[in-house]
Amino acid sequence: METNFSKEQLKDKDNKSSEKIFRKCVHCGFCNATCPTYNIFGDELDGPRGRIYLIKDMLENNKPANDKIVKHIDRCLSCYSCMTTCPSGVNYMHLIDHARTHIEKTYKRPFMDRIIRDLLSMILPRSNYFKFIGIISRMFKPIKFIFPTSIRAMITMAPITFPKKTLPNMKIYPCKNKKKSVARVALLTGCVQKVLSPSINEATIRLLNRHGVEVVVLKQIKCCGALNHHLGKEKLAHEDFKKNILTWYDEYLKNGLDAIISNTSGCGTILKDYKFIFRSDADLKKKAKKISELSKDITEYLEENVKLNFIKHKENKKAEYKIAYHSPCSLQHGQKVHDIPKNLIKKTGNLVFDIPNGHICCGSAGTYNLLQSEIANKLLKNKIENIEKVKPEFISTGNIGCITQIAKGTKIPILHTVEIIDWYTGGPKPEILKRI
Ligand code: SF4
Ligand code: SF4
Repeated sequence: METNFSKEQLKDKDNKSSEKIFRKCVHCGFCNATCPTYNIFGDELDGPRGRIYLIKDMLENNKPANDKIVKHIDRCLSCYSCMTTCPSGVNYMHLIDHARTHIEKTYKRPFMDRIIRDLLSMILPRSNYFKFIGIISRMFKPIKFIFPTSIRAMITMAPITFPKKTLPNMKIYPCKNKKKSVARVALLTGCVQKVLSPSINEATIRLLNRHGVEVVVLKQIKCCGALNHHLGKEKLAHEDFKKNILTWYDEYLKNGLDAIISNTSGCGTILKDYKFIFRSDADLKKKAKKISELSKDITEYLEENVKLNFIKHKENKKAEYKIAYHSPCSLQHGQKVHDIPKNLIKKTGNLVFDIPNGHICCGSAGTYNLLQSEIANKLLKNKIENIEKVKPEFISTGNIGCITQIAKGTKIPILHTVEIIDWYTGGPKPEILKRI
């Protein structure tokens, strides 16, 4: 794609990077075929190629964003399905991130929109606030119809109960049986995840400890920064990014870290992108690169570094469960990790099935199901229909956002991949499966 940025514009590091990306696009439109919003609306501007043109025009002409641009950019899920399909290696993720920051700087959203986005930015990354708002929302559930759509979606999604933790809060979780640890990793516990489903972090810690890996949870690390990053709130996101990079890097230098583990694939995708985000920052460049290199999805880490001791469960009612694997977009398209989780589950001796149209998003996409609830609900409906075609006894996935979204549409139990691996290597049977 031809570009017309001036020399002056290209002094800006973000324009410079985006220009290189635009130049890779050959307008072929293959990406439209796998874009969920293009499939729904059939409008070129709701597909990746059209959005690329909108972004290019806005940045190249240094235009403030307008209603039309914001409408089509806001509808993008940041699912990155288009990046998997693109034959030219266009990094759409970096373009849409640049566009969102530009929109936030140059466009005044309607009042209610601003309030909702500010609330999400304030509440979700802080687990205490999130818990408090969850409790308040419960009271409004019966009268949620009086609220505007986005608030209604927030009340609907708010959890009814908060599961209790079974592991104490500690900085270091040492290996079991006084085994000498073979590795030492930091775990990102996730801001929303640790409140909604503490069992995911607990399964991760148990599983790693049992296999000789010491786990460090640093209390200074609150949120990966992805929520604000995707809302275009650059300053707030960068505060989290910088704090995380400096805290983990310090731990890496002082006590050693073999990896930084994420069990929420949306967060893992952003950790792996810290190196790009700080590519021109003289102070942070080297540290950010190291943190990104250390970052691994839990399934990647297990596959590459741990010899798992699988066991048979004689007490199970069935020898084999039929499991539908939902590949989170941030994992399959963002991190290009698709087969590893499935292969790990297969090693438990159960039957793992792909979901038809598994490359299409479930509609969760961070705060998308709250901000674009109508589109998100359509995608959820399609996802559930496809899951039901497989007739699974339960569903497995690797992202708390997908777990919450899919659980909204079906009674089929859904759990994190790591909970299955933990169970089949000596951990407890997940609570949600006790009835099957
Ligand atoms: S990120 Fe997803 S929704 Fe956005 S343009 Fe790409 S495929 Fe479409
Ligand atoms: S598939 Fe890639 S090269 Fe083709 S239009 Fe989409 S982004 Fe451009």
